[in-house]
Amino acid sequence: MSNVNIKINGMDLSVPDDITVLEAAKMNDIDIPTLCYLRGINQIGACRMCLVEQKGARALQASCVLPVSEGLEVWTNTKKVRDARRVNLELILSNHNRECTICTRNERCELQKLCQDLGIRDIPYEGEISGHKIDDASISVVRDETKCILCKRCVNVCRNVQGVGVLGPVGRGFTSRVEPVFDLSLNDVGCINCGQCIIHCPVGALKERDDVDKVWEALDDPKKYVVVQSAPAVRAALGEMFGFPIGTNVTGKLAASLRRIGFDKVFDTDFGADVTIMEEGTELIDRIQNNGVFPMITSCSPGWIKLMETYYPDLLPHLSSCKSPQAMEGALIKSHFAEMNHINPEDIVVVSVMPCVAKKFEVKRSELSEGGLPDVDIAITTRELARMIKEARIDFENVRDEDFDPYFGDYTGAAVIFGATGGVMEAALRTVADVLNDADLEAVDYEMVRGVDGIKTAEIAVTPDLTVKVAAASGGANLRKIMDSIREGGEFADYDFIEMMACPGGCVNGGGQPHVRAKDKLEKDIPAERAKALYDEDKAHKIRKSHQNPSITRIYDEYLGKPGGHKSHELLHTTYHARPKIKES
Ligand code: SF4
Ligand code: SF4
Ligand code: SF4
Repeated sequence: MSNVNIKINGMDLSVPDDITVLEAAKMNDIDIPTLCYLRGINQIGACRMCLVEQKGARALQASCVLPVSEGLEVWTNTKKVRDARRVNLELILSNHNRECTICTRNERCELQKLCQDLGIRDIPYEGEISGHKIDDASISVVRDETKCILCKRCVNVCRNVQGVGVLGPVGRGFTSRVEPVFDLSLNDVGCINCGQCIIHCPVGALKERDDVDKVWEALDDPKKYVVVQSAPAVRAALGEMFGFPIGTNVTGKLAASLRRIGFDKVFDTDFGADVTIMEEGTELIDRIQNNGVFPMITSCSPGWIKLMETYYPDLLPHLSSCKSPQAMEGALIKSHFAEMNHINPEDIVVVSVMPCVAKKFEVKRSELSEGGLPDVDIAITTRELARMIKEARIDFENVRDEDFDPYFGDYTGAAVIFGATGGVMEAALRTVADVLNDADLEAVDYEMVRGVDGIKTAEIAVTPDLTVKVAAASGGANLRKIMDSIREGGEFADYDFIEMMACPGGCVNGGGQPHVRAKDKLEKDIPAERAKALYDEDKAHKIRKSHQNPSITRIYDEYLGKPGGHKSHELLHTTYHARPKIKES
């Protein structure tokens, strides 16, 4: 790579020769507005917001697809450019359901922000709106075509980042739409419910199914005992909804706010994560000692489970039989907690706060229930919890830190890092290495499986005689690379233990986390900053290994017996099944 000399707005600049004008401008603090642009994922020049005037060119150019070249000269802010952007924006708005006050994206919408920034005050081109359909059949994702601006971010995220490809452009001209094949609902195609399309949509055309009212209803019902659990990654992102910088850990404010909302008990899914390590670690050791199916693959991520069931059902025996931490926590609340407190499990409502919209799908699975009672009743996202906190008029910024309730809210540093890609692997290795060496090993930081790379691999000597080949992958397309390799008997068929997370970077970047503008994603590595908050909390914990959590010791002593034992299998393990790519009607 070498540099080229260009001019932007009369400024002489030397920039790398393999970038676009938009990137060159960004590198030099020159702001060009964008709407459809997503770095490396959606660079298609469709929205015409990033137009620039180029010396010698008759038409304005979309800077997101205009490569730099020696001697190139552009202007980003001329009257011609500003007028063209305004007209393009007015045209988008003329075909848009502008109900900002009741839209979930109000105040966090990239279109709305651009209209404010560019001073749009009226829409001269009023007319018929082309998109009419609202597809709300999916348990996780609602599609509202009346707000779709046809930017195709979701199309490219679903296809290229998630390796799924169930959304695509259809129709032409005024009838153009983005939707699943054959005009089907997302519920009837091979969507894995990950919600990555939601967090990349610039507007309110894609959103989670809103379950907030169900939670309020349970809280208002005097006959119900409502218990909440919150996943590790929520604490690393919830603060963003209240103006805290990306990567702020708000564990204490989270627990305090949940209590103020009115939950009867405020527990932490991290306890369930510690239980998961006990069970999954035991399963791994058992497979090692008894010639089990390898590689063994983790089963925490519901988007990943659905991807496997839909696209790799022949490889299901590789999957750990462990339920997810959310389901384990729920199952233990409705059994042991209920017995301890003499509460009829049918009167308990377990609500989980998750960084994930696929968890809404997970809680409806019959595989995650006992005697007809679901392990978890309602799953809401980080975004939905923020709306509840606001509705309850809780002063989140100033609320004093509190702890989660004891026992089912007690957790270790190992559990906290479940929220980042590689975290489950690292937590499992800490316990497996101690158990196999019958020692309390000092080394707990498995740096080789940290970081936000899509696929990380390592060979780790867990005992002097045993080296395991491990991998941690995130993002559907990366998971598919690994699964294709296993199916074909390639490189990964030879691995021992693989962690899979459907969302790129892991749960910290889940489909239920706060939206971040494309512009901010250019400046910051969002998953890395949120993950850092979790690794910092892990480091500060006195106990960093799941098997050393005194409440874990207690629950096995008093209730479960041994990890992988009969009671554990009854409550904490399950099996999954093949499902079709297109649902038959
Ligand atoms: S998507 Fe944005 S511009 Fe459209 S109604 Fe919602 S907040 Fe308003
Ligand atoms: S939820 Fe995931 S799989 Fe489904 S459409 Fe969105 S990105 Fe694609
Ligand atoms: S649904 Fe959202 S991301 Fe997809 S094309 Fe429409 S506006 Fe863009």
